[in-house]
Amino acid sequence: MPSSVTGVIQDLERVLLTPAQISARVDAMAARLNAELAGRVVTVVALMDGGLFFVADLLRKLELPVRLHTLSASSYQGGTSTTGEVKVNWPADFDLRDQDVLLLDDILDTGLTLSAISEHLLTLQPASLRTCVLLSKRRQRLREVPLDDAGFEIDDEFVVGYGMDYMGRFRNLPCIGILNPNSPS
Ligand code: 5GP
Ligand code: MG
Repeated sequence: MPSSVTGVIQDLERVLLTPAQISARVDAMAARLNAELAGRVVTVVALMDGGLFFVADLLRKLELPVRLHTLSASSYQGGTSTTGEVKVNWPADFDLRDQDVLLLDDILDTGLTLSAISEHLLTLQPASLRTCVLLSKRRQRLREVPLDDAGFEIDDEFVVGYGMDYMGRFRNLPCIGILNPNSPS
């Protein structure tokens, strides 16, 4: 781990996924998309801010023409449990008709966020809709979400790093980990 992040890593109880593990898996996810979507233009709909690093890394491995739309979606009020209500900043005149859409998010947890978003995307009549997440939690979903690919299945624990935050912090960790409950910050 670079020494510059050593201080932040001390806030972790443990590292779940190292930068090398994440990078290898993201490469494999991109290779699969390159094969499945060869010859097509891909319209990526990426959920921010949590998906920031995953999307940036995955897209640079796509050998396909790509359009990118980012959406901000939130169901959290800054803590570690969902409120159940999904807020999305839908762009005006969002046109996905007849496009091959790839919906990307950092983590699938209850399923509320991705199901709300994918339902809306389908009303925009894309030619196809694929959904990929970096992490999928092993837990009962409140809403089922058809996934085309998930980078890693993880236990039902709150994770931070590689774009994912706790109270706005820890997004810049290069690894994914579990927060130390005794962390002073
Ligand atoms: P869902 O709607 O599936 O419950 O949750 C989706 C969103 O909640 C994710 O896109 C992510 O932003 C946030 N989320 C769910 N689990 C975690 C977690 O363990 N850590 C962090 N930082 N965010 C999470
Ligand atoms: Mg998110």
